[in-house]
Order: sequence, then C-alpha cells, then structure tokens
Amino acid sequence: MLKDQEAASHIYGPVPSRRLGFSLGVDILPSKTCSFDCVYCQLGRTGRKSGRRGRYFSSRDILRQIKEAINKNQRTDHITFSGSGEPTLHTEIGNLIRKIKKMTEIPVVVLTNSSLLTRRPVRRALMAADIIVPSLDAATAATFRRVNRPLPSVQVKDIIGALALFRREFQGRIWLEVMLVKGINDSPSDIKSLKRAIARIRPDKVQLNTVVRPPAEKWAQPLSRRALDKIKKDLGGRAEVVVDFRRRPGSPAVSDIRRAILAMAERRPVTLEDITSSLGRKEKEVRPHLETLLRWQRISRHKHGGTIYYAPPQPAQKRKKSLRWESGRAEKNS
Ligand code: SF4
Repeated sequence: MLKDQEAASHIYGPVPSRRLGFSLGVDILPSKTCSFDCVYCQLGRTGRKSGRRGRYFSSRDILRQIKEAINKNQRTDHITFSGSGEPTLHTEIGNLIRKIKKMTEIPVVVLTNSSLLTRRPVRRALMAADIIVPSLDAATAATFRRVNRPLPSVQVKDIIGALALFRREFQGRIWLEVMLVKGINDSPSDIKSLKRAIARIRPDKVQLNTVVRPPAEKWAQPLSRRALDKIKKDLGGRAEVVVDFRRRPGSPAVSDIRRAILAMAERRPVTLEDITSSLGRKEKEVRPHLETLLRWQRISRHKHGGTIYYAPPQPAQKRKKSLRWESGRAEKNS
C-alpha cells in the first residue's frame, strides 16, 4: 500500500486556467476524499464522505514532485492545491505550503470547500498561502444540504462564521466561489441569503460559476449567461462571472491548448511528451493541435539527437504567420 502511495503522481499541468493563468496542480488526496458530495462535482459521487484529517500521502514525495515540476522551468503562474477532494483533509497541508514558499516565489493557491475552516488548526495551516478560494454555494441550511450534500455534522452557519473569522486572520486574498445550479440554489431568496453572508465574510472577490463540465448528477443543470449576470448584479460590486461558456461540457478548450503549446515552445524547444504531461492531455488530443500550429507556421519541428522538438518558427516562416493565425482563429470559432 505504502509503495503504491509513494508512486502516486501528485502534480498535473501547468494547465491553462482562466482565473489562475498557468496553474501547476497539486493533488494530495486519494480519489474523491471529501466531506461533501456536491451534485455538480466533476469527480462523480463521493463514495464515502469523510471529515477525518490524515497524512494521506508522504509530504516528502509531494515536495519532491513539486520541485521537479518547478525545475522544468515551464511557465507557472500559480501553484494550486486542488484535485481529488478536499485538500485541507491532509494534515500536512500547512507544512507543504510553507515549504513551497521557501522553494519558489510562485504564489500558492488553495481551493477548499470551506467545511474544515471551523477548525483552528486548519485556518492556521492556510495562513502561509497567497490566495484561498473557498466555496460557499448556499447560506441556508436546506439549500446547503441540497447542493453540497455534506456530512450530517457540517452546518452552513458554522462555515459562514468560520469564513468571517478567517477573513480577519488571513493576510492574503480570498476569492469566494459560488457554484450555481439551476433550480437548486439560484432562487431570489437563496441569493438574498448569500448576499447577507458575503457582506459578513468580506472576500476580495466573489466568483460566480455554473455547471459547465459533466456533473455527478445528470440533473444538475447550468444557469444561462443572462441568469448569472442578473445574480452578479444582485450581489453587487465584488461579484464576477468566471464561467467560460465557450467550453462545451466534456470538450477540450481548443484555444487554451494551442496557446499553452505556443507559450511552452516560446520558452524552450519542447517534445510531445513535455506538452502532454504539462497539459494533462493524451497524445491523441495534442497531436492535431500541433499539426494545426505547424500548418499555420506558428511553430516549427526539429530533430535533435534522435528526438523531435517543437520551437518557434524559422525567420522565413514568420512572415506569413500573422495572417494565418487570424484565419486560424476564424476556423477555431466557427
Ligand atoms: S467539495 Fe469539491 S471535491 Fe468535494 S464533492 Fe464538492 S465539488 Fe467534489
């Protein structure tokens, strides 16, 4: 068991993210270890909910993998704890954040469902992070249970109190995320309650999201852009809509993949393997984008020491690239 755990991969990306730029993902839990069972969860249903903290994987192994990823010198705008469940369930999260801060100046972000912030050791553990993105999808007990399906012991009023307390203690930025599900937590009274809770918590931003990727429950439906804009208006100043409606559920973000390949190739020649591991995509997903970029003369292909590398185009190729890129954009959007 220990051998399997030590062999686990804790790093993914850097993946292009609308909110965090190129985000190096750090996953410190076994698959779907969570205190919630949200109806919109992209990881599917939570088999066994847990609020028990533990040392699920070795910190030494996680830190070694983070160091290796940083040493690859790929563009990384943030190092983000997220992934297979609720990261604050790992008892070493504070230690991991502090060690990363000694290793690099890249800002550290933690995505959390907020349920463990009621515990003082968890709030203290997060103090060294730069940005915390806590979730709060509802402010009333009934709606909270409907959308997040938490452990019976978890009360939303306690979470709101803990978030307000954490705001006073934490020096970094707090971006409160609200995931909205049509007909579940989007009624005018739900939004009114959320607004009151937000006024108490005073986050730096409120980021409104909806169900774009395949959810745990098929019936969990997204809100329209119009409905989200109305809620943003109702919530006032700090709220913004962060969902990218250009992505269809389950489909890769084509423009992001191409941009990510270009960003990598511009820094240094990269192999196909560099790109697939950085983007967390399969070879068959990446290859067509490489061929497109080669056709548009945005990159060139070189063989060196028996290995194929992708790099910026040669000077003769560069003359035509701008025009072709524009036509490529038209193709992408069609
Ligand atoms: S808190 Fe996150 S990981 Fe846990 S069930 Fe909800 S969406 Fe999934």
